[in-house]
Amino acid sequence: MSAPAALRRGWCPSVARPMPSGDGLLVRLNLPADSVPPALLHAIAFCARRFGNGLVDLTRRGNLQLRGLSEATMPGLVEALSSFDGVASPHEPESLRDVMMSPLSGLDPKAICDVRPIVRALRERLASEGSLRALPAKFCFTVEDGGDFGLEHVAADIRFKARRDSTDISFMVALGGHEGQAKPIGACTPASVPQIAVPLALAFLELRGTSEDAPRRMADLLKRVETETFLRSAGLGSRLSRYPEMAEGASSPLLREPAQPIGVILGGENDPAYCGLAVPFGQMTAGQLDDLASHTEAFDGEVRLTPWRVIFVANKSAIKALDTKFELEASGFITRLPDARLNIAACPGKPACVRGTVSPREDALLLGPVALGLRLSSPGRVIGIHISGCAKGCARSAVTKATLVGREGRYDLVIDGVAGDPPLREGLTVQEAKIILEQLEKKFHAESRT
Ligand code: SF4
Repeated sequence: MSAPAALRRGWCPSVARPMPSGDGLLVRLNLPADSVPPALLHAIAFCARRFGNGLVDLTRRGNLQLRGLSEATMPGLVEALSSFDGVASPHEPESLRDVMMSPLSGLDPKAICDVRPIVRALRERLASEGSLRALPAKFCFTVEDGGDFGLEHVAADIRFKARRDSTDISFMVALGGHEGQAKPIGACTPASVPQIAVPLALAFLELRGTSEDAPRRMADLLKRVETETFLRSAGLGSRLSRYPEMAEGASSPLLREPAQPIGVILGGENDPAYCGLAVPFGQMTAGQLDDLASHTEAFDGEVRLTPWRVIFVANKSAIKALDTKFELEASGFITRLPDARLNIAACPGKPACVRGTVSPREDALLLGPVALGLRLSSPGRVIGIHISGCAKGCARSAVTKATLVGREGRYDLVIDGVAGDPPLREGLTVQEAKIILEQLEKKFHAESRT
């Protein structure tokens, strides 16, 4: 497996296709969409220590990733994973199962319905359709329950979201991007979600073609193909109905980022309480994962992974949620706000990634205080600074007030843009960047007072 191949666009590391990185092979596990049982968390922690470098990533798709594996340790990992309940077969193409659901589905009292049975049916239907193995690795489906913890900001390809119309429940269907960008195409019944998803995915494959520059995401395809043409190709006809909000059409770029649900969140009187644990920069140790599993078990909890670099432990009572918070704070999870690490997005960079010439997470600690101020200058944003090891910008795709992009051991500074945008300043040390960002922060604050 050559390094250049590993850097191809759209590469998604899986057990069947590990990705070479600066600290060895990288493998993303394929876990259940709902709860991850404590026994499985312990088993993953064991694998991280035994076969990898002991670090576990929580990804932006709410999955876990093992790092620091090698050709020599991969066979042992594959054998170990094959024996675990709840991890998809190491030989199953991952994209067939990349279905994300509202992380608290089945537990959120504000949800319109429990989407877990729908997600299970969708996954089974996708897995049975062999031609969908050709879907690009990052192609993804979202199924939202309409509750408090949705996936509005996730850039999906085919979106389903529950809505209630008097007594009936239906699912709005939209194509491409996050909720603010996606094109609404109609509504379907809960039972027909899998039957609608498959023709849409097949139409994507048919219309994208097979050329080297074929679109990998639905949003890119819909820039080349009219939505009407796409829908004709999918042949859904009367199986989708219109709903009133469709008249508004696709809306504007999403301004609001998901709230950070950190610490104890109380449900209603008879509802569970939750403990939201942020994972600093999306990375934890095998020891932390063991602690998470042990305390979840001890306090009757249920673990749900989210795409916000946050893990929920749903407990049966507020007291147990408080105990979980107390114990896991000591283990290194973030359980209270504010915490400057939550206002910075930073990829691993050097040495974990072969492309990195800077170490964003180390430098983030220096820039933490200024990140909070910059975040406040962008209403609706949680992240004030994005520090990227290179122009690929893996840690964040959204526009950020300040983005530092590593290049040849220094940083270029982009304002109100993303990692690949033209920089305002080039070749800065992190200390120089800090001084400039502090000046910017003061300027924004002065402007906001006038
Ligand atoms: S953005 Fe960071 S993690 Fe992504 S390729 Fe560049 S250095 Fe590596």
